[in-house]
Amino acid sequence: MSDCLVVGGGIIGLSLAYELSRRGMAVTLVEQGEWGGQASSAAAGMLAPLKEFSVPGPMVELGMESLRLYPQWAQELEEHTAGDVQLSLEGLVTVAMDDAESEQLRAKYLWQKEAGYDVHWMGAKELLVVEPLLTDRVQAGIYSPGEGHINNRLLLRSLVTACKIQGVALLSGCVVKGIAVKAGRVIGVETTSGPIRADHTIVASGAWAGIMLEMLDLAIPVRPVRGQIAAVSSVGIPLRTVIFGTSGYITPKKDGKIVIGATEDESGFQREVTLAGLASVLNGVMPYVPALHAAAFLEAWGGLRPATADGKPLLGPVPGWEGLSLAGGHFRNGILLSPVTAIRMADYLESGQSEGLEPFLPSRFLS
Ligand SMILES: Cc1cc2nc3c(=O)[nH]c(=O)nc-3n(C[C@H](O)[C@H](O)[C@H](O)COP(=O)(O)OP(=O)(O)OC[C@H]3O[C@@H](n4cnc5c(N)ncnc54)[C@H](O)[C@@H]3O)c2cc1C
Repeated sequence: MSDCLVVGGGIIGLSLAYELSRRGMAVTLVEQGEWGGQASSAAAGMLAPLKEFSVPGPMVELGMESLRLYPQWAQELEEHTAGDVQLSLEGLVTVAMDDAESEQLRAKYLWQKEAGYDVHWMGAKELLVVEPLLTDRVQAGIYSPGEGHINNRLLLRSLVTACKIQGVALLSGCVVKGIAVKAGRVIGVETTSGPIRADHTIVASGAWAGIMLEMLDLAIPVRPVRGQIAAVSSVGIPLRTVIFGTSGYITPKKDGKIVIGATEDESGFQREVTLAGLASVLNGVMPYVPALHAAAFLEAWGGLRPATADGKPLLGPVPGWEGLSLAGGHFRNGILLSPVTAIRMADYLESGQSEGLEPFLPSRFLS
């Protein structure tokens, strides 16, 4: 019997299992497929709260807290596992190509500057110094020097190794079929490999979290939003920074790839790449960096972002069900939010206090 049972071996489940085991708990982690085989390996790995959150409030604060945690989180993982996770916090530009985009972006810049975040408003000339491969048709943009990206696939691999080293019981290829209840309390799960029991069960099953809670007749608004995404070779295209625009993003990774994304389309649990999706992704970004027209295409793939009805994650206890919590619904930002999720959820599981999680509590949908 474990102290904690985590369902879902994506970035959220793995990070939480790692953190809980570091705090001395006996942890079991269950994954139906391969470790990180769903949304978490599909991601572009950007760590970009200032780009992602357009209004002040709890999301940008949570994102900034996680970004601040990343250097130490990554360093400890690297030391623990002797594996490089290719963290790069070397800046990001968000570009505006016309007056309307400039006006919108400028409003965002003003509140972020006012809030004290490290953002810089730039015209075309300055932007071209930061990123010489940008088109000279760019009108203006925000440069945020502290944002960046990580190699999420290496991060996932490191987390699996770290969990193994910490003694987490890792069960892949094991499908959770039911939630076990005794006297109104969740006592574990039923799986294709048999029953698993624990003091506390945490559902971290990404886009499938809603399906899991339906097992208790609970309706939680989590739905899959497909992202179609591609990679091209960086040979001959020495980009320095991540570039965001209204029709896509370009992420130069440290492994010789430039990752280009991504659609947001809804097609149930299908994650195939469609021709229309791929075309919109590639056509969307080429105007930002004309050199991309000559890039060698490498691959394209799709993944299912776990989206909630209000765009905020679900972190904390499931009301009415002792012994059950949720850690999910991270939508476009699960890689960014993984350290803060793991640490805040582990704090809650240790103390029983959900202070600080208020904006994210599942009770907003379930009470
Ligand atoms: C194209 C794309 C680009 C993205 N780019 C970024 C980015 O740049 N930066 C960023 O921060 N985020 C990004 N994201 C979002 C990020 O990938 C997600 O928010 C994050 O991966 C969610 O992690 P998760 O662990 O909750 O879900 P998942 O990675 O989907 O993991 C959930 C796991 O639960 C398992 N599971 C489900 N049901 C069961 C069951 N019954 N039994 C056992 N296991 C089960 C699944 O098999 C799965 O492996 C992107 C997503 C996509 C699709």
